[in-house]
Amino acid sequence: MTIPTTQFDARHLERINARLEKYHPSKILEWAVETFRGEMALMSSFGLEDVALYDMFWRIDDSARLMTLDTLRLPNETYTVIDQTRLRYSVDIETFYPDLVSVKKMVESQGNNLFYRGLTNRKLCCGVRKVEPLERALSGVKAWVTGLRRDQGMERSEIGIVEFDESHANIKINPLANWSFDEVRAYVQEHKVPYNELHDKGYPSIGCSPCTRAVKDGEDPRSGRWWWEADPDSKECGLHVVPTPES
Ligand code: SF4
Repeated sequence: MTIPTTQFDARHLERINARLEKYHPSKILEWAVETFRGEMALMSSFGLEDVALYDMFWRIDDSARLMTLDTLRLPNETYTVIDQTRLRYSVDIETFYPDLVSVKKMVESQGNNLFYRGLTNRKLCCGVRKVEPLERALSGVKAWVTGLRRDQGMERSEIGIVEFDESHANIKINPLANWSFDEVRAYVQEHKVPYNELHDKGYPSIGCSPCTRAVKDGEDPRSGRWWWEADPDSKECGLHVVPTPES
């Protein structure tokens, strides 16, 4: 039976998380499919975590919904894996683009590569190209699945398996919260899941082309994102806001 998101109060979430915490990500997705059915989608950036998760999701439900944000600044390698995924799973990928009027206004006033000139500009660009399209995408679902992992550090170390997402007034599910990057990679290899070839070139985390670079062995995996910014706490694009303890 589908459960309305209003039933996910703090105590309910605590009970669900206590149970799901011990589950394999596939079992967590089974619970999510049973709970939300077609009112749930995986929001994918086609990084290693997301391609692994979609493979698990599709094995449970071959009509599993897959959404993505095309910022219009993605690396070519990301477009390649998007095409490969479409073919492999015969999935109609729900793609959300930035509002072109907003892009035009931003570029005309601040330039194409405004993000290199300070955090305010960078947040503006992420807002236009990612945050607003995400809001549009999530307005149509009761729950969304992400590939966040706790060992990615910073605010991500606090994520729950299931959270109430206050920003979007829905439920956010993080089935890979307890997995390491190596576990994700092993899953992808075992199931021959198409993945972004940039991962083999030193890119553990892949975003827009002008804002992502390879990292060296031993460096923080997210240090290749917005690498010119000194503050490591700023390395989020606004898509993932940590819930308050009450939520
Ligand atoms: S990652 Fe870079 S190009 Fe992409 S939306 Fe953010 S600032 Fe803009």
